[in-house]
Amino acid sequence: MMQYDDSAFDAWMFTAHRPPLVFVEGRGSWLTDQDGGRFLDFVQGWAVNCLGHSPQVVVDAIARQAAKLINPSPGFYNAPALRLTRLIARHSGLQRVFLANSGAEANEGAIKLARKWGEKYRQGAYEIITMEHGFHGRTLATMAASGKPQWRGLFEPKVPGFPKVPLNDLAAVEAAIGAATVAVMLEPIQGEAGVVPAEDSYLRALRALAREHGILLVFDEIQTGMGRTGKLFGFQHTGVTPDIMTLGKGLGGGTPLAALVAREDVCCFDAGDQGGTFNGNPLMAAAGCAVMEALQQPGFLEQVAEKGDDLANRLQRLSRRHHLGEIRGRGLLLAMETGAIDASQVVEAALRRKLLLNAPRPGILRFMPALTVSQEEITHMIGLLDEILGSL
Ligand SMILES: *Cc1c(COP(=O)(O)O)cnc(C)c1O
Repeated sequence: MMQYDDSAFDAWMFTAHRPPLVFVEGRGSWLTDQDGGRFLDFVQGWAVNCLGHSPQVVVDAIARQAAKLINPSPGFYNAPALRLTRLIARHSGLQRVFLANSGAEANEGAIKLARKWGEKYRQGAYEIITMEHGFHGRTLATMAASGKPQWRGLFEPKVPGFPKVPLNDLAAVEAAIGAATVAVMLEPIQGEAGVVPAEDSYLRALRALAREHGILLVFDEIQTGMGRTGKLFGFQHTGVTPDIMTLGKGLGGGTPLAALVAREDVCCFDAGDQGGTFNGNPLMAAAGCAVMEALQQPGFLEQVAEKGDDLANRLQRLSRRHHLGEIRGRGLLLAMETGAIDASQVVEAALRRKLLLNAPRPGILRFMPALTVSQEEITHMIGLLDEILGSL
């Protein structure tokens, strides 16, 4: 095995604290580090590897496509991107798809599309009402759209036009709507905020409110999409369809792939308004097609919902035994409130036991395993977590 001393990390620009681990291999729910240590992964690249690490269907799709055609230029159509846009359109009920390389970029595109639509059809309206504690990415506009309290005062001046309201407060949205409002944008379940669901009734009411005021409803489904909640898209639990939706994370099965998806009559970009060198490249699109097809296998989404219920029940029992708090979420996007226990301490202790967990906030543990996680792996994780909570 290759060994890494401190100097190996010298050239890596600091943006986050990382443990001195170097992962060299992944398979399913397991990661292997440079020393051969095997880690059970309930983070999965931040809910990105929906089929686990290096799933065969994605490996094969990429290998086949790489040997055939990597990038003909974004100025031309290519077969995998055509196939993927049609798959996403067919299953979402929205008609048009723009492929992007990251969630933030897809959201940036959604913001641009809404502003363009406002310019054309709502007398220059440009404000997008977004949610406190929401998370939409790390570009300048998506940071401004996000409601992370820690980002206040950072990278000023902020991109203007993102008034914030509290989640699940319909009256606050109503009060914030004015002549300049073009859209409301939110996550069906706030992921980074600690898995805080928007109530189904609230989403339905938002749909009606947006229609009444002639503004757009934008769902950021980057974390809740692609089967994560037990349905292909989170909005499918509610019976309402957004005008614009963004996808990312699970879409590429671990590869950088995202999408801006919209209703036909909202699509008003002129030539050159949106695009990029890597957008719609066939290599990532081939990965996306493989993921879409895997999620469409009979029974796949049902087993996500069942395993999600099972995991939630077992976390509930654990929470009761250790006098912790609420279990929240849907499908395999779950969180546990850790009460008096610092969740980041749990994450550190778990890492020492070779279990990867995530603490999006100080009192919250988040669970986002592969959608293909096995019962045995869930049992193994619960056992380790039980011991860790008992030891703290
Ligand atoms: C992860 C995430 C993003 C940002 O996606 P990137 O690919 O990291 O740019 C945006 N919105 C939500 C809801 C996310 O979970």
